[in-house]
Amino acid sequence: MDDFNSETDSDYTSYWRDWFISSRGNEYFCEIDEEYLTDRFNLTGLNTEVHHYQLALDLVTDVFDNDCSDELRDQIEKSARHLYGLVHARYIVTTRGLAKMLEKFKKADFGKCPRVMCDSQPLLPMGLSDVANQQPVKLYCARCEDLYNPKSSRHAVIDGAYFGTSFHNILFQVYPAMLPPKTRRRYEPRVFGFKVHAAAALARWQFEQSQEQKERLRALRIETGFEDEEEELEEESDEEGEEMDVGGVEGTARVAQ
Ligand SMILES: [Zn+2]
Repeated sequence: MDDFNSETDSDYTSYWRDWFISSRGNEYFCEIDEEYLTDRFNLTGLNTEVHHYQLALDLVTDVFDNDCSDELRDQIEKSARHLYGLVHARYIVTTRGLAKMLEKFKKADFGKCPRVMCDSQPLLPMGLSDVANQQPVKLYCARCEDLYNPKSSRHAVIDGAYFGTSFHNILFQVYPAMLPPKTRRRYEPRVFGFKVHAAAALARWQFEQSQEQKERLRALRIETGFEDEEEELEEESDEEGEEMDVGGVEGTARVAQ
């Protein structure tokens, strides 16, 4: 209910940034501090990337005072949104910006990983390019280390350059405790409860490979970052029990031939 009020409350809409942040579809953006926007150093080079740069900046910083045609006003509005996005990419890798995005990440404002094995891990927005107009924003899951398209079409059209290629990695460097534990939990294809033979053989091979790799890392005293070993041992004993099933599949396969 609070969100709804903030969208319609006239007190909020009188300030451009508040209006922008609370507009539907702009949920991925955090609010850029006034101080940051008014320091010219932070905006270096953006004047060549944004049309009507000065007027757009005036609009973003609430000092726009210009009687212009509706058509020009629309163009300036569009430029202001683009300018905000470009500054946003720079702002979110600053200490203040990272802290604001971390709060949004904790609230899962960017959505949760759709992969079942990721247990609703919150996502982070990221760009595949730091150059504008190349690729729309994608969502990064730190648990499966993969990328996803935003669910909403409003989010799917946001420029990825407004978040950039580094932000999500910097966030975990600055806040390593936020990094979820790695997991080897995977989906195993089954037919009527029996493991599919080829897939099961591949999974066994991959499991052995990962065990060898972990042994090597352990010998070198390198932290693997995987979930605690005890849990893994339980999983292993489960798997031994299921080996019987594989034999069962072979049995049925012979019957089918
Ligand atoms: Zn995931």
